[in-house]
Amino acid sequence: MEILRTVEELREWSRANRKLGRSIGLVPTMGALHAGHASLIRAAAASCEQVAVSIFVNPTQFGPNEDFARYPRTFEADCALAQAEGAHVIFAPSVDELYPDGGTTFVEVEGLSERLDGKSRPGHFRGVASVVAKLFIAAEPDRAFFGQKDAAQVAVLRRMVLDLRFGTEIVVCPIVREVDGLALSSRNVYLSATERAQAPTLNRAIRRVESFVGQGGRSAIALLEAAREVFDAEPSVRVDYIELVDWATLQPVESASPGTLFAVAAYVGATRLIDNTIFN
Ligand code: AMP
Repeated sequence: MEILRTVEELREWSRANRKLGRSIGLVPTMGALHAGHASLIRAAAASCEQVAVSIFVNPTQFGPNEDFARYPRTFEADCALAQAEGAHVIFAPSVDELYPDGGTTFVEVEGLSERLDGKSRPGHFRGVASVVAKLFIAAEPDRAFFGQKDAAQVAVLRRMVLDLRFGTEIVVCPIVREVDGLALSSRNVYLSATERAQAPTLNRAIRRVESFVGQGGRSAIALLEAAREVFDAEPSVRVDYIELVDWATLQPVESASPGTLFAVAAYVGATRLIDNTIFN
């Protein structure tokens, strides 16, 4: 498995493969790979002839007081995992390679960028959209694989693909969880033992809402309240947001219907975690 460091190398790799008629899958990540990332790489390898995994801790999607500097970096282990799951190349550029002299050109998905995580993390989705656009322009993947875990990110990227007329299909893979329901995240390593025990609160809220909907509950007021009660029972977990929105627009809806996203974000200690469910 080759490790590519420059955009030009990624472009060359992609061009050479497309010339041979091979389909290309891209799995964008920030590294510290776990079983959630592994599931995306597996899905990519199952549906594309060539798979690139990008590993890049993207500074522009972190706020000034966030964890960019201490974000876990486990490059050697990431390469081993990616290779084992069927990746053909790793794209691991430097910050200067993707943002020459800091970069001055950014992608803003108006309206969606300020919703959910974008509301509590101003500039976050501008950073995400910008880096994914750079990857799409260089790699021109047929398909790019993202986790439902970051459901608002998927909405932002789908809108970007529509607006910029990228020829890449966005494929969304299910959330991979620990046995107690906690969604796998590279940030889970920040949790102390006590916090780790509190962290499944997010998924308990999600499951309670799912069971309400399973019993015919639909109204946003009732669903938001059902989730709120779960968090009220665990006061050490501080809610950032609880939202019922249309998955495409991220705008609040009054009742759950197919395509509605129920999403939560909460701080467990200093660590911000997210979880969600999508109704069908
Ligand atoms: P990250 O490295 O956190 O930027 O995540 C890279 C990709 O992996 C994103 O598309 C995430 O949504 C996805 N991902 C992260 N955690 C999970 C998980 N627990 N299950 C499925 N996909 C995930």
